Amino acid sequence: MKTNNNWHKETAMIHEGYDSEDHQGSLAVPLYQTSTYVFDSAEQGERRFVGEEAGNIYSRLGNPTVAVLEDRIAKMEEGAAGLAFASGMAAVSSVLVHLTKANDHIICSRGIYGCTFGFLKILEEKYNITHDLISMKTEQEIEKAVKPETTCIYVETPINPTMELADLEAVVNVAKRHNLKVVVDNTFCSPYIQTPLTFGVDYVLHSATKYINGHGDVIAGLLVGNDADEMAKIRGTVLKDFGGIISPFDAWLLLRGIKTLPIRMDRHSANAKIIFDYLQKHPKVEDVFYPFDDQHPQYEIAKKQMKMGGGLISFTIKGGKEDAQKLLNHLSLVKLAVSLGDAETLMQHPATMTHSAVPKEDREKMGVSDTLLRLSVGLEHMDDIMADLDQAFEAI
Ligand SMILES: *Cc1c(COP(=O)(O)O)cnc(C)c1O
Repeated sequence: MKTNNNWHKETAMIHEGYDSEDHQGSLAVPLYQTSTYVFDSAEQGERRFVGEEAGNIYSRLGNPTVAVLEDRIAKMEEGAAGLAFASGMAAVSSVLVHLTKANDHIICSRGIYGCTFGFLKILEEKYNITHDLISMKTEQEIEKAVKPETTCIYVETPINPTMELADLEAVVNVAKRHNLKVVVDNTFCSPYIQTPLTFGVDYVLHSATKYINGHGDVIAGLLVGNDADEMAKIRGTVLKDFGGIISPFDAWLLLRGIKTLPIRMDRHSANAKIIFDYLQKHPKVEDVFYPFDDQHPQYEIAKKQMKMGGGLISFTIKGGKEDAQKLLNHLSLVKLAVSLGDAETLMQHPATMTHSAVPKEDREKMGVSDTLLRLSVGLEHMDDIMADLDQAFEAI
């Protein structure tokens, strides 16, 4: 059985899209590490190329290992079809190219991922596709940003690294009124915590490099849409002709990672909640930002659209930039690295790392001060994480 609508998410993440009977009984999804496929006859090759017969042609157009991954992510996000890409950025750029043409306008979350911002700049410089960055907190604010040439709304929630939330229901209400497509970057939550398509969003994408893989050894992207025909169009145009496809081996590693996504997210979230409480009480910490904090101004939105808080926390420390850097330099178990969603706890300094390309003035408007640190809480024992934070705080 390749699918079963009664399966819970935890089950689908392990079984969706794969039947061992089709693969000599192999329990694990086999790795089809091949570039091309042999046709039985010239006629069969012709039929496959014109689309009269389903079947493999060439791995940029489709691969059996990748196909299982695409079915699985589609099921996890409750969408019609999924596509796998070489990186999160390949997914971001592909869906935006699909949804826009020259002179269009995009409404975007403020504080989006740095390279997504970089791609918006390319669209603007080359094709005059403009954008406005807004908070996405209220329907009125989103409504005000709509222009006659607006074609899509691009959302990140929670926003990196300030952990502010976009209200998905408000975004979708505005989009429906103006016939706009909505794309959500769901990297921070993973489909275990948040499923934007169930709120009426059209596309959801991931840097699968992060929680979905979860083991810090793959760069990959995933896209899921609620319309199978549109997804087939993206596969047949942008994915095929830009060629930002995932390698079969990376797809195989993702399939392995996804199996444990639910238990990892449960542990990331449980650890993060404890670290959050610890940071809130710490005398050297000024502010802590975590969506499942009952004091978070958007806690009601968090509860509406997220199952739990996830593993990311941001906090500001008392003092200046030097103190933030000193804290980082004294970490030992906690690793000083960008990226997130790995088994290892990681910490970084957005002002000088992930958001260093944003001018200081804009950075401060976004809430990215020089004393802000972002923590991706890992799967280690929380006492060990806290002991390492303790000794690093002690040094400043
Ligand atoms: C990392 C990241 C990306 C980019 O993904 P890559 O896999 O590095 O290309 C996009 N969005 C968010 C929120 C990310 O954290």
